[in-house]
Amino acid sequence: MAFTFFNTLGRRRQSFEPLQAGKVGFYGCGPTVYNYAHIGNLRAYVLHDILVRSLRRTGYEVTHVMNITDVGHLSGDNDEGDDKMLKSAEERGKSVLEIADFYTEAFFNDTGRMNITPPTVVCRATAHIPEMIALIERIEKNGFTYFAGGNLYFDIAKFPSYGALALLRMEDLRAGARTALDENKRNPHDFALWFTRSKFENQALTWESPWGRGYPGWHIECSAMSMKYLGEQFDIHSGGIDHIPIHHTNEIAQSEAATGKKPWVGYWLHNEFLLLDKGKMAKSSGSFLTLQSLVDEGYDPLDYRYFLLGGHYRSQLQFSWESLSGARSARKSLTDRIRSLAEKAPPAVLDNLLQGRGAENQAEAPGGPAAERLQAFNRALEDDLSTPRALAELWGLLRDASVEPEAALAAVFDMDRALGLKALPGEDKPAGDEALEREIEGLIAERMAAKKAKDFARADSIRQSLKERGIALEDGPAGTVWRRF
Ligand code: AMP
Ligand code: ZN
Repeated sequence: MAFTFFNTLGRRRQSFEPLQAGKVGFYGCGPTVYNYAHIGNLRAYVLHDILVRSLRRTGYEVTHVMNITDVGHLSGDNDEGDDKMLKSAEERGKSVLEIADFYTEAFFNDTGRMNITPPTVVCRATAHIPEMIALIERIEKNGFTYFAGGNLYFDIAKFPSYGALALLRMEDLRAGARTALDENKRNPHDFALWFTRSKFENQALTWESPWGRGYPGWHIECSAMSMKYLGEQFDIHSGGIDHIPIHHTNEIAQSEAATGKKPWVGYWLHNEFLLLDKGKMAKSSGSFLTLQSLVDEGYDPLDYRYFLLGGHYRSQLQFSWESLSGARSARKSLTDRIRSLAEKAPPAVLDNLLQGRGAENQAEAPGGPAAERLQAFNRALEDDLSTPRALAELWGLLRDASVEPEAALAAVFDMDRALGLKALPGEDKPAGDEALEREIEGLIAERMAAKKAKDFARADSIRQSLKERGIALEDGPAGTVWRRF
C-alpha cells in the first residue's frame, strides 16, 4: 500500500516514503497531565492510533513515541501564563508528581477504553532532564541562544527558516506586532529553553544546569525525547492544529539548530479541533467533557471512537449529544450485522479469526466481491487516512448480499485491524479471564431467570452491580452480551 499524507510542512499531499524502508519513526505530542483529557484531546490520540494501525496493518514496523508533559507547560504556549502542573497541584493540595501520576493513569485508562493502541515508548519529561540539558548545550554551542534576565532563550533571528511550518514570515515576526510580556526577549517570538528566574516563587521541580538551577521550557522536551528514541531525523510527527504556530514551530527550530540536519521530521500531520456548541474546547477553561462524562450518560467509549472516525481528521468536527447518539445506533447496527454474519458462517471461522488476532499472521485473504470492498477500504486509508470513506466501505461490505458470510467476516476482521472498533463478537471480552467470564455468564443467566420470574428489582440490581465493576450488559436478539466500558 502506498500512503499519501497531507503534510502541514509545505501544505501539500505527498506520497509517504519513510527514511528507512519498512520502518516508521513516529512521535505524537502527548498530554500535559494536570487534568483529565477532554474529549477534544482524545481526538488527537485517535488520529495517532489510526495512523499507527494503518501503517502496521500494511507491514510497516512502527516505533510510536509519546511524551507525558509533567513540567514546564505554561497556560500560554509562548512562555506566558501560569504553570499548568503547579496550578493544578496547588488547587488540589497535592504535589506536582502526585498530580502527574494520577492524571497519567487516568489518561491511559481513557485511551485503553477507547481501544487506542499503547505507544511503543511513553516518556515523561521529568525523567529526561539530562537529555534536554545536553540538547540545549548543543543549541547554545551552535550560536542560537542568548542569556537574559537569568533565562536562556532561543534567538529566532539566527534561524532563517523559523516559522516555515506555520507559514510565518520572518519580516512580520521581526516587526514584533505582538508586545512581549517577557522583557528579556529580543523578539516576542523567541522562546525559553531554560528558566532559572522563575516567575513562580514556589516552582516545585528544579534541576541543576550549566545556566543555573531551574527548569526547562516546554518545547525542548519533545525535541529531546523524540530524538532520543527515534534518532536525529525521523518520519512523522503529529499533534493538534493549535501546535502549528508555536510548539511545533519551536520544536523544529531548536532541533535543526542543534543537529544542523534538515528536515528534522519528514511529514507533519495535524488534527483539526473537536468543537462544542460553545466553540473550542479548552482543558484549561475547566469546563469540558471527559470520556467518563460520556460513559456516565450511558455511552460506550467505542461509540465515541465511532463518532470520531465518522469525520476526517483534517476537518473540524462538531460534537453534540445527538450525533453521539447517532454514532451509538450506527455502531450497534454494525455489530448486530456482524454478529448475524458470524452466526451464518461455520463457528470455526470466527474462532480462527479471533485466535489469529495479535499474531503476525493475517486472516486468510477473502476473494471475490469482499476483496474488492477491502481494496476500496485500503485505498480510503491510503488517501490521507480517510476514515469516513473507510467506514462507508465497511458498511458497503455488510450491505452487499453477494458476499459470502465467511468472506465478509474475514474482510471485517482485516478492516477492523485499522479501525479498532472491536467489531467482531467476543472481541471486547478480556482474553484469558475465564473465572471472571464464568461469573458474569452466571450473573447473566441469573438475571434472565429473575426477569422471567418478573423479579425486576433483582434483574436491575445485577445489571447495576456489574455496571459498577465496569461491565455493561446489552440485550439483543441473540441474547445478552456483555462488554467492558
Ligand atoms: P494538551 O494535553 O493540552 O497538550 O493537548 C493534547 C492534544 O490535544 C494536543 O495534540 C492538542 O493539540 C490536542 N487538542 C487540544 N484541544 C483539542 C480539541 N478541541 N480538538 C482536537 N484536539 C485538541
Ligand atoms: Zn510536543
